[in-house]
Amino acid sequence: MNKIANEYRDADGYWIELKAGWHAIGEYALHGIIAGTKREARQRAKEAEQCDCSDCQRLMKEISCKL
Ligand SMILES: [Zn+2]
Repeated sequence: MNKIANEYRDADGYWIELKAGWHAIGEYALHGIIAGTKREARQRAKEAEQCDCSDCQRLMKEISCKL
């Protein structure tokens, strides 16, 4: 399952924004991952856990309304 909404590199490192409904492992309601390398960031994204915070619930509702 693809959990990645967006990814990019900047001066701080490699960023991954998770799709609605996922958070970084062990970091409830944290939807962005930063790591030194793309490989490390991707690995953390793979381990993302399901998120049901209010932001995700709202986003998922918006998505399902559009379908
Ligand atoms: Zn969330």
